[in-house]
Amino acid sequence: MSELKPRVAALAARFRPPGLAVVLAGNNPASEIYVRNKVKACQDLGIRSETLTPPDSVSTGELLGMVAQLNARPEVDGILVQLPLPRHVETRRVVAAVAPDKDVDGLHPCNIGKLVAGLAGMRACTPAGILELLKRHAIPIAGKRAVVVGRSDIVGKPVAFLLLHEHATVTICHSKTRDLAAVCREADILVAAIGRAAMITGEYLTPGVTVIDVGMNRIHDRGEVARIFRDSPRKLALFDKQGSVLVGDVDPFDVAERAAAYSPVPGGVGPLTIAMLMANTVAAAERRAGAC
Ligand code: NAP
Repeated sequence: MSELKPRVAALAARFRPPGLAVVLAGNNPASEIYVRNKVKACQDLGIRSETLTPPDSVSTGELLGMVAQLNARPEVDGILVQLPLPRHVETRRVVAAVAPDKDVDGLHPCNIGKLVAGLAGMRACTPAGILELLKRHAIPIAGKRAVVVGRSDIVGKPVAFLLLHEHATVTICHSKTRDLAAVCREADILVAAIGRAAMITGEYLTPGVTVIDVGMNRIHDRGEVARIFRDSPRKLALFDKQGSVLVGDVDPFDVAERAAAYSPVPGGVGPLTIAMLMANTVAAAERRAGAC
């Protein structure tokens, strides 16, 4: 993220600091933590941030109004609508209301279309972070078999297209995939974006595979922590202190035995997602500065 600092400083000197607006609706504790980390990253870099916190009862219409106001403000370069929105809100309508050039989460249909077509556009942060991770560790992608478990709009589908554009042969799996373990064993690169704690065990992993664990699962059961972490005193002490432990979608011990490269949880993709959000915001501000 430090690579962004000179770009932020240059913008601040000749234009103004980049600006990010976050809409955090309701009281989802996990979302509150994610937003806090994003705001902190903005502070660290010198990006101006503001957080709008409508209550859980906010309507789709009210959120559309908020987004329209942010779209109209020239000093707002990026708009992030933190998901999930409250259950009664029409999420797709709100996401599609964000101006595509301010859509720093890369979720607007316009940006998804550009991704599919391989055109320049705002890319979803977690998938962009995964590609950055692979490239910076010089993991070959072209011609490799990539298996993505999970087909969400925010992780699974976009990362599959990014890998495809890098010339991987890509298989996308989901809850209806038959013999998932056998499909996963074909992978040179395995991306797990499922949301099931330590589901990807040794039988899914072929020796030498590169594994990117995206899952963020909070475990509140001590017995589960003991099982997944093989009675690790360190993890059990952490559980006793915090009352929960964060676990990815991949069994941390099995993957350590079989994978050639492994991006763990916590670490890896989580911080990179925030870094890519910052990068998208800075790039949006640079485009705006160039246009002025
Ligand atoms: P999601 O929208 O719930 O999608 C989960 C995907 O996993 C779905 O496509 C689902 O299949 C598939 N799936 C569920 N159970 C399965 C099973 N038993 N076998 C095979 N596939 C299965 O989740 P998401 O938003 O993509 O997030 C996935 C995980 O990544 C979560 O733990 C989330 O917290 C984490 N995440 C982390 C970051 C980060 O910054 N590190 C960012 C985003 C998400 P169907 O489509 O058939 O239901």
